[in-house]
Amino acid sequence: MGPRLSPLRLGSLGDVTDGPDDLAFLAQSLDRVEAALFRLDAGTYGTCDHCDQPMDAASLERDPASTVCTSCTQTRIDG
Ligand SMILES: [Zn+2]
Repeated sequence: MGPRLSPLRLGSLGDVTDGPDDLAFLAQSLDRVEAALFRLDAGTYGTCDHCDQPMDAASLERDPASTVCTSCTQTRIDG
């Protein structure tokens, strides 16, 4: 009666993110789309989450689910 099953690693669910990047990306995208739909519903879609200024159409076109304007995105990356 030796140990025939490999040990379950329930304590290390963090390892799941080591799996396919696509999966993590998909989950993240879904979150973003849901957030965008919520913002549409609330009437705040197209408004920067950070500076409350209307977002430019170009950045929305590039990333319809983005929640911050171009300049705030750059600020966040830099900062
Ligand atoms: Zn902004």
